[in-house]
Amino acid sequence: MTHSTDPNLSLFERAKALIPGGVNSPVRAFRAVGGTPRFIARAQGPYMWDAGGKQYIDYIGSWGPMILGHGHPAVLEAVQKAALDGFSFGAPTEREVELAEEIIRHVPSMEMIRLVSSGTEAGMSAIRLARGATGRSKIIKFNGCYHGHADSLLVKAGSGLATFGHATSAGVPPEVVQHTLVLEYNDVAQLEEAFALHGKEVACVIMEPIAGNMNFVRASVPFMRRARELCTQNSALLVIDEVMTGFRVALGGAQSVYAQAIPGFQPDLTVLGKVIGGGMPLAAFGGPRAIMEQLAPLGPVYQAGTLSGNPVATACGLATLREISQPGFYEQLATRTRQLTDGLAGAAKAAGVPFCADSQGGMFGFFLLPELPQNYPEVLKTEGARFNQLFHGLLERGVYIAPALYEACFVSAAHSAEDIAQTVDTAAQVFQTLTK
Ligand code: PMP
Repeated sequence: MTHSTDPNLSLFERAKALIPGGVNSPVRAFRAVGGTPRFIARAQGPYMWDAGGKQYIDYIGSWGPMILGHGHPAVLEAVQKAALDGFSFGAPTEREVELAEEIIRHVPSMEMIRLVSSGTEAGMSAIRLARGATGRSKIIKFNGCYHGHADSLLVKAGSGLATFGHATSAGVPPEVVQHTLVLEYNDVAQLEEAFALHGKEVACVIMEPIAGNMNFVRASVPFMRRARELCTQNSALLVIDEVMTGFRVALGGAQSVYAQAIPGFQPDLTVLGKVIGGGMPLAAFGGPRAIMEQLAPLGPVYQAGTLSGNPVATACGLATLREISQPGFYEQLATRTRQLTDGLAGAAKAAGVPFCADSQGGMFGFFLLPELPQNYPEVLKTEGARFNQLFHGLLERGVYIAPALYEACFVSAAHSAEDIAQTVDTAAQVFQTLTK
């Protein structure tokens, strides 16, 4: 029997003995695409190196945060300096105030903000706040949108609008999800019907404005407009989950993109994560003063965290936000991202592979389908086997995209025109090998 010399494989075996599935977050395990996950040893700029020393162009960027690429000098310096001053105090710091000011400066729908350590915490807390502020229990979410793994959000649709959801995870009692109604994304009629039936009991509607957890599906403008109107008319809160899109698709987040099409558009609550921490554990939620002041210690809605507003994480986030708020940053990032999606589309066409792509700022998605899907059932029409072939073809040739067809990908400011061109060339080779 030959013994494997692939360090990724031997690390995976060691990991599996101790950590369920060998990973600390399920999608890292390559379950959807098969094969051995790459154990990453280090990263710099747009590149990562695995445990065997193989180099990859990274289009995952830690699932979104690394908008400047890895190891940006200004961010690194800020983190090193902050670390010397102390890792955690459990007491307020000036940097938390600075980060709050910096975020709010760019996202005017938020008058106040609270910092937490993960998107899950932020989404869960925003929902508790929405329920506390409205005195209502029911929430509406959409099929294919992910808002973290809080119990009440791990839900799939029930059998109709009158029945609420079923848990998608073991360990979530039916009583916990009985107040969660799951609707189809971009379905205006269904949303209207749900409000007609339950409007006065709905605390909030929560949605990803560009759903990056079903690859890349935009909320249509009519859908977003109607969601805003229905929430306002029914005194429910519109919660926009910008954990992925915030400071990633535009400086003002996806809400600033929708505000261009829907004059005056603002959510009630915004959930942020990923980019605002620059790769450190940091997330946030915020909104109008009157709602945010319902939080402890001022109000009756409890929420807390030992490491919330961590001094090293806030230094990382602040340095990141200062870099990305330079003039022209998003224009350049968007151009680079479009060069990639256009290049991939051209390569797919030349190979006769059905393909379509969409992007906003530094976030993109593509489908091996002739047309962009509008909701989760349409996303699932992508033929998984062909996506997996593409994924492994790219990975073997040093291009690292998300290991599942229902995940968005990311370009950073560190990706050069040469990196993009090399990626397109690589993809052109792989497209030729795909089974037709
Ligand atoms: N909301 C959205 C839109 C996300 O994409 C994610 C994570 N991918 C989360 C919430 C949860 O964030 P975290 O993984 O930091 O808990």
